[in-house]
Amino acid sequence: MTERQLANSQLGFLDYDPAPESATIARLQPSYGLFIDGKFTDPAGHEQFASENPANESVLATVAQASVDDVDRAVASARRAYTKVWSKTTGTERAKYLYRIARIIQERARELAVVETLDNGKPIRESRDVDIPLAAAHFFYYAGWADKLDHAGFGADPRPLGVAGQIIPWNFPLLMAAWKLAPALAAGNTCVLKPAETTPLSALVLAEILQQAELPDGVVNIVTGDGATGAALVAHPDVDKIAFTGSTEVGRLIQRSVATGDKRLTLELGGKGANIVFDDAPIDEMIEGIIDGIFFNQGHVCCAGSRLLVQETVADEVLRRLVRRVEQLRVGDPIDKNTDVGAINSAAQLARIQELSAFGESEGATRYTSSCVLPEKGYWFAPTVFADVAQSHRIARDEIFGPVLSVLTFRTPEEAVAKANNTNYGLACGVWSEKGSRTLWVAERLRAGVIWANTYNRFDPTSPFGGMRESGFGREGGRHGLEAYLNV
Ligand code: ADP
Repeated sequence: MTERQLANSQLGFLDYDPAPESATIARLQPSYGLFIDGKFTDPAGHEQFASENPANESVLATVAQASVDDVDRAVASARRAYTKVWSKTTGTERAKYLYRIARIIQERARELAVVETLDNGKPIRESRDVDIPLAAAHFFYYAGWADKLDHAGFGADPRPLGVAGQIIPWNFPLLMAAWKLAPALAAGNTCVLKPAETTPLSALVLAEILQQAELPDGVVNIVTGDGATGAALVAHPDVDKIAFTGSTEVGRLIQRSVATGDKRLTLELGGKGANIVFDDAPIDEMIEGIIDGIFFNQGHVCCAGSRLLVQETVADEVLRRLVRRVEQLRVGDPIDKNTDVGAINSAAQLARIQELSAFGESEGATRYTSSCVLPEKGYWFAPTVFADVAQSHRIARDEIFGPVLSVLTFRTPEEAVAKANNTNYGLACGVWSEKGSRTLWVAERLRAGVIWANTYNRFDPTSPFGGMRESGFGREGGRHGLEAYLNV
């Protein structure tokens, strides 16, 4: 009997039998070209790279590495489509395309969920219940705005910007594509999208969906490649706007690169979110909220609640229950419907999580790691909680972007606010309390773009999302998300 099985049997829990979704539902092509001017085309240099399944290191498909010339072709295609077609298409017509895309995403939801899980390593339960439905919801939501821009609060006749270059990360590949494309298209822009190099496949399936929806050629172009492809897009003189989601380091490079021109820019960068727990919060819900806040998507979430601030009077009980709950998380095959925590997205990310966690121990924090048995192949990290964390520790300051929670304590609401704000980031925070007045008092004082009350990691297309300070600027989602794509 493994340690985990023993723990389970002592707690009276049964182990789960495997319940895998079928990987064949993905229907992936062996290789993909660049999606330019409505067609898949070979990259100029014929260079390809592999996209692998991080859960077992097998190659899923090869994709094209776009060069500077390819990016130039994609931008030219987007410009042509903007001038000749999309800028002359009425809002009502644009809405029809967006509704169509949303419906096809729903129709192909199961396939997209499997593709996302294979390519990213996230549990199928999450891609099926969160990523794909939310991606469709974003297209539905912005379809509703396309013919109502005059009433969005940005003047009587707000105009699109032109060609938008959009660079997205690997943690929510399809959802980030939807966050970027849907408002841009609703506002009347054309797009060149660059997915992350470790997770390009769902964007390429989306390209098929755009063909199926008969979106006019060139309105959306998708160029795969690494950071050099992203940099070429940022530097391109005929791009009017850059929207970037990714690391703070790359965000800085991009901001520097566009500083001398007149490109518009929005940045959604890293975070070190504080999840603040008061002693009157309902404990069962709060434990689930803490778990969801940090272990959802393996902690590969820029707004993750990676710092738990717990009131001293309940700290021992919260920690005890948290550690027990972590032991119950099912870590393993992402394609299994019972899995709670899947694979780390890449070897590089795993190395970073391991390095920062090692600092936690050497700096004197107390480590609790799940005794789960990790698969031999692929990239894995057992869910981990660090207690006795000081504000000066690296695990309390640096974004780990993995399944690692740092626990700190506080005595008064003032101290909770001071500790929560003691970070260079400012993306998201959570507050847990029965008392509405206290929650509002705290929320007003937190320096973060998003504050959740008695919940965490809740996303909705109607609600603006974005950060301040080193978490970036600009908002995505809601009416505010349109502003980034309009000349207001
Ligand atoms: P992470 O560190 O989490 O991988 P990155 O910020 O490196 O996040 O990557 C986010 C996206 O930015 C990816 O699509 C990546 O290819 C792209 N990217 C990386 N470097 C650059 C760059 N210098 N300019 C533009 N895009 C880049």
